[in-house]
Amino acid sequence: MALRGSQISAEEALKRLVDGNRHFAADARASEALLNRARRAELARTQEPFATVLGCSDSRVPAEIVFDQGLGDLFVIRVAGNIVAPSQIGSVEFTPLVVVLGHSQCGAILATLEELRRPSENQSRNLQSIVDRVRPAIESLLDTDVARDEEALVRRAVRANIRASVDHLRHGSQILEQMIQEDRLRVVGAEYSLETGVVDFFL
Ligand SMILES: [Zn+2]
Repeated sequence: MALRGSQISAEEALKRLVDGNRHFAADARASEALLNRARRAELARTQEPFATVLGCSDSRVPAEIVFDQGLGDLFVIRVAGNIVAPSQIGSVEFTPLVVVLGHSQCGAILATLEELRRPSENQSRNLQSIVDRVRPAIESLLDTDVARDEEALVRRAVRANIRASVDHLRHGSQILEQMIQEDRLRVVGAEYSLETGVVDFFL
């Protein structure tokens, strides 16, 4: 697989995603025009994605669709709860921009909150491994006033989990830290709203 990082700047990459999401949220996607035989042929030997998206596996948040991008545009990693695993850290060095994309009502967050409040013994091991990774970012919220308002708690937990993944990537390796310092890589956090289709880049 020939994979070259795109030469555009992080700012330009971010603008493309913001514009693409605006099209998507307005039901005016344009990328379909590029999903054809000619584009496949162009991409058969090489690719130059301009952004990496670390998103949730949730079926309602497919990165290419919500950002209205075509083949070859995005390098996408999807895992329940958009958590960072060591194996992903090396995969985010290829593009000028990395987006951690969480979303409202994330099942991984809801499951972790549930587990923190009512620990169960017969949790599946897969679910347990997700809960274990999400837990450190949101555990302390349960000791604050926000815990009394369920909706607010979930919203805050979703954002805290995105923030934790962003921090993790920003400091995941010396190479990444150096690339960020030299302005060759930018890591941002964003939340997708299941209700409106809008992505809020908040970090
Ligand atoms: Zn999710």
